[in-house]
Amino acid sequence: MNAKNRYYPINSLPESAFQDGSILFSFDTFNTRYAWDCGVAIGEYLAGLREGKIIGSTCPKCHRTMVPPRLFCEWCYQPVHHFLPLLDTGTILTFSLCYVSWDVQRITEPEIPAVIAIDGASKNHGILHKIGEIEPEKVHIGMRVRALWKAPEDRTGDITDILYFKPE
Ligand SMILES: [Zn+2]
Repeated sequence: MNAKNRYYPINSLPESAFQDGSILFSFDTFNTRYAWDCGVAIGEYLAGLREGKIIGSTCPKCHRTMVPPRLFCEWCYQPVHHFLPLLDTGTILTFSLCYVSWDVQRITEPEIPAVIAIDGASKNHGILHKIGEIEPEKVHIGMRVRALWKAPEDRTGDITDILYFKPE
């Protein structure tokens, strides 16, 4: 048997082993802190969200407008320095009715993540967000939607400054 095909047996840990004490464990609280530098382009994007704007960037060579903005064009490798506000409306490119929450719990009312082509960006350039204020079975590809923003005083420069997109 070579290394590529080596078999590693898996022993799952049953819940009963935690209950009957055959597995030792402890709980702890960690005081962890970290910082993440979001960079120039995403920094512009997040600052725009705080102002209630969706920011994109345009390539000087192929004139493609990308969202979220980037500092270079992946198509022609040009540096990109032109940032611009786009509209907060768009079209659903694809979506899912999700009956499992982010923490893997079954839910009866689905969350509806979708890729939304943002108006003002180049064709098929979009962002991932949630759809709301609609019966799940009525959501469809090509549907027009508009961002529902948090109140200005509640925005923090985060993608959640948009609560969700709803039918236009
Ligand atoms: Zn380009």
